[in-house]
Amino acid sequence: MDALKQKINKEGLVLSDSVLKVDSFLNHQVDPQLMKEIGEEFAERFRHKSISKVLTIESSGIAPGVMAALELHVPLIYARKRQSLTLSEGILSSKVYSFTKQEENTISISDKYIVEGDNVLIIDDFLANGQAALGLIELVHKACAHVAGIGIVIEKAFQDGGKTLRRKGYHVESLAEIMSLGDKNITFKDEDKEEVHSK
Ligand code: 5GP
Repeated sequence: MDALKQKINKEGLVLSDSVLKVDSFLNHQVDPQLMKEIGEEFAERFRHKSISKVLTIESSGIAPGVMAALELHVPLIYARKRQSLTLSEGILSSKVYSFTKQEENTISISDKYIVEGDNVLIIDDFLANGQAALGLIELVHKACAHVAGIGIVIEKAFQDGGKTLRRKGYHVESLAEIMSLGDKNITFKDEDKEEVHSK
């Protein structure tokens, strides 16, 4: 998705060989126009899958998730990372090790909102080692629902999450795939291919 890649190139900050900061449009300040386009792109890629719910994890998955849900005309549910007083009964939980915070969180949803027979599209901002996606998949399975696909805004393809999820048979679609963050440079998958071709 060109608009997203251009935005990443222009505003993304490479914090290390494995961490990209995109606080100016996705993780803190949010660019609504770009989120709308991201939602349309996810909807386009998963429309044929009869999605009944979109599931994400707070907080950075909410903006792209709600836009995808809007386009698909289905509700968005976001898993909570903290226990809430209003979410105490009938909760489904799983444990997720956070790549950026390096701590384990218990994520939860109410069993009211994802139910048996639901066809769920999982959306998240980043895919690194796949822990967040695997935690969300576990919630869907605990609800006896089906994972129809996984939509990722930015996949860091040099980490194992994408491989793990695809090997398990999940349909993963990433709107920007980063092959490397080495030397403070952002190399996308397509650029990588062009480099190989030009040799
Ligand atoms: P995973 O669970 O796949 O290892 O990591 C994905 C989660 O960690 C995402 O929900 C995202 O919030 C966070 N994350 C992973 N890598 C990055 C990164 O390079 N930059 C930012 N901003 N968040 C990341």
